[in-house]
Amino acid sequence: MKLLDDPVYRMACQQFDRAADVLGMPEQFRERIKQPKRCISVSMPVLMDDGSVQVFWGHRVQHHLTLGPTKGGLRFSPQVELGEVAALAMWMSWKCALVGLPYGGGKGGVNCNPRELSLRELEMVTRRYTQEMMPFIGPQTDVMAPDMGTNEQTMAWMMDTYSMHAGHAVPAVVTGKPVSIGGSLGRREATGRGVAFLIGRVMEILQMEPQGTTAIIQGFGNVGSVAAYALRRFGIKIVGISDFSGALFHEKGLDLEKLEAHVLANRSLEGFSEGQWMSNEELLVQPCDILVPAAVERTITENNAHQLKCRILAEAANGPTTPEADGIIDEREDIFLIPDVLCNAGGVIVSYFEWVQDLQNFFWSEVEVLDRLYRVLEPALAAILKRAKERKISHRNAALCLGIERVMQAKQMRGLFP
Ligand code: NAD
Repeated sequence: MKLLDDPVYRMACQQFDRAADVLGMPEQFRERIKQPKRCISVSMPVLMDDGSVQVFWGHRVQHHLTLGPTKGGLRFSPQVELGEVAALAMWMSWKCALVGLPYGGGKGGVNCNPRELSLRELEMVTRRYTQEMMPFIGPQTDVMAPDMGTNEQTMAWMMDTYSMHAGHAVPAVVTGKPVSIGGSLGRREATGRGVAFLIGRVMEILQMEPQGTTAIIQGFGNVGSVAAYALRRFGIKIVGISDFSGALFHEKGLDLEKLEAHVLANRSLEGFSEGQWMSNEELLVQPCDILVPAAVERTITENNAHQLKCRILAEAANGPTTPEADGIIDEREDIFLIPDVLCNAGGVIVSYFEWVQDLQNFFWSEVEVLDRLYRVLEPALAAILKRAKERKISHRNAALCLGIERVMQAKQMRGLFP
């Protein structure tokens, strides 16, 4: 489809086709399940601090409406394309179905560089985007959450803009909000903690001891930093970390607190005094037991998949591994893959808990949130491993098959509207 033509969309379609083949999905179903239901693109003129007016592009893709509202993050990035957003929305659909949430997948993006905008400009971009999306979003229609380049503050502005139009507070219109306005305890950390929980479970399966185990994390934002601290709490040494500016590798282990303080002061890792400075590409192929891509799509490709030196590949980011690299990793058999649709599902699971709490005006303790999170992740991991073993397919294929077949069954039960 020309409108969505983009490498990331093509990759999501390729993954879908592979899973549909395994499922033996009838041809008549394939396009109906794969194609997004709605793609919304808007131009957004914004008054900048210097008095000029800059026009940004904003997108929202709602993949399917079969099981409930659409759900998924909003990304601020100069690289955002409609096709990429559609791919991310499709992955959200399989992810929600895999872990049993009553949602279709959604994703949004604004074509801007948040690092180059002032706080006022960021607020104007966010409010304008929310305003433009007003007819298409709502607690029962489409619920957004933070993703790359957005955070709790972004969600607070969105919730305020929507609520001002409604005439009353509507906290359930977004998740990942500050706790003071209806956010859930544990939501900010949920994705990273889910990643660490799953790595811990896989280490048990592989009989790996935390002592002496090393991890490399690509991306030191919300997901990467929380995962790094959580893994360190297990006793794992973090030997490599990267961000948009480059990468650091330190065999003896990086000092996370010092690193975080440096990033807060300088807005990037660059210039940190410890470890060896290298490119992002070089970091991915350094020796480690656990590799956690937690940044952008398509960083593990046919060019580096042969050279990975990890035992566990935990996909905290969405779509970090290309289908070509998947083929290589499958053949190698020495890497245990935790596929993205499971690995980073902690975020949307706790977003679901936040939405439920907001709709009921009844809030849970952090212990309750985390306990429920792990009780969703654990059986999902077990189901993937069981399916992979029974059908002799990769973990990715097993995870996608489980998610896709649930969406297919729901569509079959509802039937085709005339
Ligand atoms: P973030 O904006 O908080 O952090 C992103 C990090 O990646 C930053 O440190 C940034 O400098 C770094 N980065 C950007 N481009 C890079 C590159 N080319 N190489 C290396 N590092 C780079 O974003 P986040 O919320 O942590 O999201 C990270 C990933 O996790 C994304 O793929 C996102 O879709 C996925 N994810 C996030 C959530 C969530 O709850 N935030 C949930 C599920 C999945």
